[in-house]
Amino acid sequence: MEKPGRHFLQIPGPTNLPDRVLRAMDRPIPDHRGREMPELLQEVREGLRQVFQTRSGEVVLFPGSGTGAWEASVVNTLEPGDRVLAFDIGQFSRLYADCARRFGADVDLVPRRWGTGVPAEVVYDRLREDREHRYRAVLVVHNETSTGVTSDVAAVRRAMDAAGHPALLLVDVVSSLGSIDFRFDDWGVDVALCGTQKGLMLPPGMAILCVSPRALQRSEEVRSPRYFFDWRPMLAENRRGYFPYTPATLLLYGLREALRMLLDEGLENVFARHARLAEGVRRAVQRWGLRILCEDPREYSNTLTAVVVPDGSNADTVLRLAEEQLHLSLGTGLGELRGRVFRIGHLGWLNELEVLATVAGVELALRLSGVPVPLGEGVRACQEFFADCLSGRPVGTARPS
Ligand code: PLP
Repeated sequence: MEKPGRHFLQIPGPTNLPDRVLRAMDRPIPDHRGREMPELLQEVREGLRQVFQTRSGEVVLFPGSGTGAWEASVVNTLEPGDRVLAFDIGQFSRLYADCARRFGADVDLVPRRWGTGVPAEVVYDRLREDREHRYRAVLVVHNETSTGVTSDVAAVRRAMDAAGHPALLLVDVVSSLGSIDFRFDDWGVDVALCGTQKGLMLPPGMAILCVSPRALQRSEEVRSPRYFFDWRPMLAENRRGYFPYTPATLLLYGLREALRMLLDEGLENVFARHARLAEGVRRAVQRWGLRILCEDPREYSNTLTAVVVPDGSNADTVLRLAEEQLHLSLGTGLGELRGRVFRIGHLGWLNELEVLATVAGVELALRLSGVPVPLGEGVRACQEFFADCLSGRPVGTARPS
């Protein structure tokens, strides 16, 4: 039997679809070799360049998902034996490094505590020691979705420049693009990659990359075998307004609408909304007396919060009760965080009242699972914060308790 009322999908992606996006996709299947494609694709690629904040980067669209985008970034820029620098700061950082390794890269995966970001000073040290410039790329997950940590990509770029190292900078923006400030040009990124199902407010189904002239050059030089994710024929066809094979046509219509929405709201406002909603959630978590996995407030993610449950509690019980009793889906703890952490997604098409309802639901699920939280207190902390924001009072960022 279908549960009545709205399903609260508050996982850190896929996110809820705006009705406008849904309606834009509710149409007959177009001919992907037909006359309407070039105009559609041109608007989509131009809109994406604005969202990536680039003039020099080229946008490439594949059918796929974030994982496919990882593969595309690797097979087009690296050859077997190439040395790569990566940091083990969470499940997705680890998997991205593993993707490079499976294609033959010699990956230096630096172990770090999960809940911290990419340490720019270590990037500097490693690259500085590499006098022969054997590292060909540095991999960074901008927003680590398993831990709720946003790394400082600009600082990584500065470290690479200070070390005078020519490695490419490959950045996963799967859970940050369109929600958290990301600047392809200013931060000297060579490849940025994502899917469609998070900040871009679409169903899953595409892998999107933004590629710098240097990365394009590299893709001509590397001899790695590639076919589906070869970005050279894809880019050549995309520039003409077409695809070398069947694209996710309906998603393109949804993407055009979602980009119009993001750009109409204004990127600055989109980022500010995510920052505000995230802070409301963090205030609630802190009022409950629970720990946020990310310990440095400068690295708090504005798209999700990973909450550590007290010893003796199981985060998956909280998730199960939230789903069964309240029709609220939260993110599970991934990898070694399973059972210890649950994740509240607060990204995409979302506003204050939806966040308040989510916080109320989490509070209730915690109580049902035996975690002693005072009912109403998290909601109140969140409301107080939103009240300050809405009345224009100056507000800061919550500090770890
Ligand atoms: N990178 C990050 C940061 C992610 O959060 C995810 C998925 O959540 C992925 C990569 C993998 O993307 P997908 O599941 O779309 O293949």
